[in-house]
Amino acid sequence: MELTGRVALITGGGSGIGRAAAQRFAAEGMRVCVVDIDAHAADTVASSLGGLGLQCDVSDPDQVDATFVACAGELGSVDLAFLNAGITVHWSGDIGTLDLADYRRSVGVNLDGVVFGARAAVRTMRTLPADSRAILATASLAGLVPWHPDAVYALGKHAVVGLLRSIAPNLAAEGIAVHTICPGITETGVLGDRRVLVERIGVPVMEPDAVADAALTAATAPLDDTGTCWVVQHGKPPWPMTFTGVPAADQRLNTPVRPTHSP
Ligand code: NAD
Repeated sequence: MELTGRVALITGGGSGIGRAAAQRFAAEGMRVCVVDIDAHAADTVASSLGGLGLQCDVSDPDQVDATFVACAGELGSVDLAFLNAGITVHWSGDIGTLDLADYRRSVGVNLDGVVFGARAAVRTMRTLPADSRAILATASLAGLVPWHPDAVYALGKHAVVGLLRSIAPNLAAEGIAVHTICPGITETGVLGDRRVLVERIGVPVMEPDAVADAALTAATAPLDDTGTCWVVQHGKPPWPMTFTGVPAADQRLNTPVRPTHSP
């Protein structure tokens, strides 16, 4: 989609990958709405870019709906929704000792936050017709491969990949492209103090700008590329994941679903 003069809403935009993406989209001439549970961080990033900062907990559907309405009200549109907010709770691969409150918190942000965000984005976009729009979400390499250190994180990120691949064909007829960004380890708050640990075992750590580049690639990709998962790895340009097909009669059910009614 064409970005100049359009509106981007970025969740988790107060730091890390979201902040880098907000800066990248603003540099492309977009007006940005920076959304974060940390109001000060959202305002700081937004004001540095002449944008709008909004506080929102993406795990609360009412807050998410209100945030999209506020963005459209203040900035006139939501053309690009980058559903990027995410957390790691703690790296514990032992399912036997999983704390269920941690589990709910992880899934609440990493999965519910994307479901609520995609739903609100589509509803808002339907009230503001335009030729081209896009919804992006940050999953992770842990959405494509097993992630033994934090299986619940992998659960949420695999779910985001499946969700976005599933909704993409449904939204193409409305000119809404859908892409997933799957970064490897990146120097941000999610990584915390683990950089030394991961580099010691030979895992290169990317800067958030590399992921912002991938978000820009996805946002500007042709509509025909909708449903792509962009893998982002250290020292490489973003590349589209190829999924192995499963030949099955069940695939006959996989025809795009059209909207049944406007909200
Ligand atoms: P980060 O901690 O720097 O940024 C995450 C932002 O999300 C923070 O500003 C935080 O305040 C915000 N946030 C947290 N909970 C929220 C909530 N409930 N509602 C709204 N905002 C909330 O980390 P990051 O690495 O930039 O994370 C961005 C995304 O990238 C996440 O989805 C993360 O899972 C994903 N990711 C990160 C890495 C990595 O190594 N850093 C790798 C792959 C994927």
